[in-house]
Amino acid sequence: MEKAILYPFTDLARQQREGSLRIVRGDGVRVYDEDGRAYLEGTSGLWCVSLGFSENRLAGAADRQLRTLPYYQLFNQRTHGVAERLAERLLELVPAPLSAVFFGNSGSEANDTAVKLVWYYNNARGRPEKKKIIAHRLGYHGSTIATASLTGLSLNHTDFDLPLPWVRHVTCPHHYHNARPGEGEEEFARRLAGELDALIEAEGPETVAAFITEPVLGGGGVIVPPRGYFEEVQRVLHKHDVLLVADEVICGFGRTGAMFGSGTFGLRPDVMTFAKALSSAYLPISATVVSDEIAEAIVPRTALRGGLGHGFTTGGHPVCCAVALETLDIYAERDIVGHVREVAPVLQDGLRRFADHPLVGEVRGVGLIAGVELTEPGERLVRHAMRRGALLRPLGNTISFCPPLISTAGELTELVGIFGDALEDLS
Ligand code: PLP
Repeated sequence: MEKAILYPFTDLARQQREGSLRIVRGDGVRVYDEDGRAYLEGTSGLWCVSLGFSENRLAGAADRQLRTLPYYQLFNQRTHGVAERLAERLLELVPAPLSAVFFGNSGSEANDTAVKLVWYYNNARGRPEKKKIIAHRLGYHGSTIATASLTGLSLNHTDFDLPLPWVRHVTCPHHYHNARPGEGEEEFARRLAGELDALIEAEGPETVAAFITEPVLGGGGVIVPPRGYFEEVQRVLHKHDVLLVADEVICGFGRTGAMFGSGTFGLRPDVMTFAKALSSAYLPISATVVSDEIAEAIVPRTALRGGLGHGFTTGGHPVCCAVALETLDIYAERDIVGHVREVAPVLQDGLRRFADHPLVGEVRGVGLIAGVELTEPGERLVRHAMRRGALLRPLGNTISFCPPLISTAGELTELVGIFGDALEDLS
């Protein structure tokens, strides 16, 4: 059966040889395989199932909407109340000056849309040459042609003839790997901001449209930028009139212990993108939120061009919007941000206890996202953890942790304990 699907981010030859882990159901923070074995889901699927695997309120919201209006589009002067209500709710949550929402189906679409709207904005403002986008090496922004180009991982480029020519990558703010001997975090941050400044100067500021970043770089190995980094970066962007796009696809909605990663790290973005936890990934939905300045420049241009030439059939799908609205209600009712702040030390301090282990290089993280970088590829440890009943994800040498936001202190203690046991299995 493995041959019938081209599985994403998978060594397909190995999968056809060895088979797959087949998950059949979920309950709370656990999933169960076809033999009934339970696993703690240590990464919320792909950093996304924030409310765990059995939130009946989300199933109820989807069911009600399916029976009321299962589909309608947002094209050609049509709308529906669920998309309007969700946009209103999102705009209550995001910081000023963000003021208008575009709906898509995935994080990749949200970031692709961010690029297109930034370009559209610069064309509308009479700056057609201001188009280059700068991103981080080891940043992850998606798998479409544009967003795989922004992504700074060779796996996403090699044999796909990417990146596209308007993308530039800068050094990853990974102090552990990229700092010079004896270089402190602030000094490292200033050096990287200097590198960004020099790149923009060399390219010509009139050709650089935006800088895109995740608040914490997830897929590249859970990299937490050093103290002061984003302050320095924003000073450079401001100087050159370059927009800031915050990719909140992983960090959005409480993951870092604030509503958005931008809040935790002092980012003041012109564009924010969301997916994953927007609906706890029960249904696919994403959002690109832009500043009032961008929205105001776009509107008259659409009149000139006969419409905004961008959109997806199922973007703002009413059933997905209904599930997202219910998700946001649950976050508010359960004070999910407060809960993350309360339980985060169980994960963060628990993992830091292994910092001196001979097989551990670095432990990093914030809120309920963490990475433990080993001195060897993470695969072996992940196999031991799985045998012991926890699913973790290796990213090179780094073991990533991104448990559901509803995880209790007890469940996090169990997860950290299984990690510790798996580490001993390696020794
Ligand atoms: N941005 C970030 C930070 C992500 O981690 C991901 C996916 O993991 C994406 C964008 C792409 O989202 P999707 O897989 O929904 O297209």
